[in-house]
Amino acid sequence: MLVVKKFGGTSVANKERIFNVARRCIDEYKKGNDVVVVLSAMGDTTDDLIEMAKDINPNPPKREMDMLMVTGEQVSVSLMVMAMASLGVPAVSLNAFQVQMHTTKVYGNARLKKIDTERIQTELDNKKIVVVTGFQGVNKYDDATTLGRGGSDTTAVALAAALKADICEIYTDVEGVYTADPRVVKNARKLKEISYDEMLNMATLGAQVLHNRSVEMAKKYGVQLVVRSSLNEAEGTVVKEVAKVEKRVISGVAADKTPSRISLIGLQDTPGIAFKIFNVLAKKNISVDFILQSVGRDGTKDISFTVDENNLQSTLDALNEYKETFTAERIEHEENVAKVSAVGSGMMTDPNITVKIFEALFNEGINVKMISTSEIRITVLIDEKDVDKATKAIHDAFELED
Ligand code: ADP
Ligand code: ASP
Ligand code: MG
Repeated sequence: MLVVKKFGGTSVANKERIFNVARRCIDEYKKGNDVVVVLSAMGDTTDDLIEMAKDINPNPPKREMDMLMVTGEQVSVSLMVMAMASLGVPAVSLNAFQVQMHTTKVYGNARLKKIDTERIQTELDNKKIVVVTGFQGVNKYDDATTLGRGGSDTTAVALAAALKADICEIYTDVEGVYTADPRVVKNARKLKEISYDEMLNMATLGAQVLHNRSVEMAKKYGVQLVVRSSLNEAEGTVVKEVAKVEKRVISGVAADKTPSRISLIGLQDTPGIAFKIFNVLAKKNISVDFILQSVGRDGTKDISFTVDENNLQSTLDALNEYKETFTAERIEHEENVAKVSAVGSGMMTDPNITVKIFEALFNEGINVKMISTSEIRITVLIDEKDVDKATKAIHDAFELED
């Protein structure tokens, strides 16, 4: 059997944790299985590296940023193999360049295109545990790239797909996927199973337990995932195509503190304005979410939308540059906003669900700034300070049993 095991930053944060992971991987190896391990950078290393960069240059060149980022994962994999060696087990560490994990060329948010399996296979045939750096790749210029924050999950799933692994286990600092972040909602429940589609929505809407692209890839290649704790033996959550039908109305609540809101006020109420605005942003590769347009009044209208807070400044710069072409009277923005979403298949078929969510927010005195819905989710934009309160309130409004 071939097993891919991925361990996140907290799971390898210090010497004791590194040895804990080494022992778990060795136990698997001693069962006679082939073991490929994917690691993230230790503890808060990635955040610390970002801080170091910003201290030197608040707007660091993207290529150099990735050169810096990839060092974090290299520390974890080499220390892990040293730990395994000290326990008498043959292992080898490989970075993205050595494996040849090919990505698109974008620094900071590259997509995996193809993974060569030859080197890993040779090492496995030599009866070694193979420990691979998560989160990183190589582009067509032979430069280091990274896959976006939380991207090690995607490395693990991509490797599992490329190597046709029998199972892909994501070990983290909670026992599985819960109905809401268990650190925020104390009575959140651990799910035995969740479907790819529901998990994809949860991940995209802010549940960082899995990188959303890892779920997308798992669905595409039919990789069955298990999310479980690196610190105990508790049974985790299985992520698969069809999850057992449960009595839950919604599968979970997810929160995302990264958006910023932008509003263009007093736009001419004529055709082509929205096209001009979003065309400017698309050309700068800025994705937007949550687009809302007001009803026209006195020949003018307003358009609001959200962007990732990291793109706020570049969005404002781009809009101000072209302000005249789309006739905006003013451009406003708000940074401290957050999205809270209730996710569940088929929720829009029941109007009571929407009412229950708004009632829960009303009871807590939380003001809703924007609303967006689909068949599988309802998302509200609120003040960032209210995000935990809103998550708990929506969670409590439903019987989230598994
Ligand atoms: P790792 O470093 O192992 O990749 P992450 O910090 O990326 O771990 O993801 C795990 C964290 O995700 C948990 O500590 C938890 O606070 C958070 N989280 C958010 N939503 C959920 C959820 N629905 N279920 C489980 N964990 C969640
Ligand atoms: N170390 C990277 C991050 O902190 C990748 C990961 O943890 O998955 O985002
Ligand atoms: Mg993660």
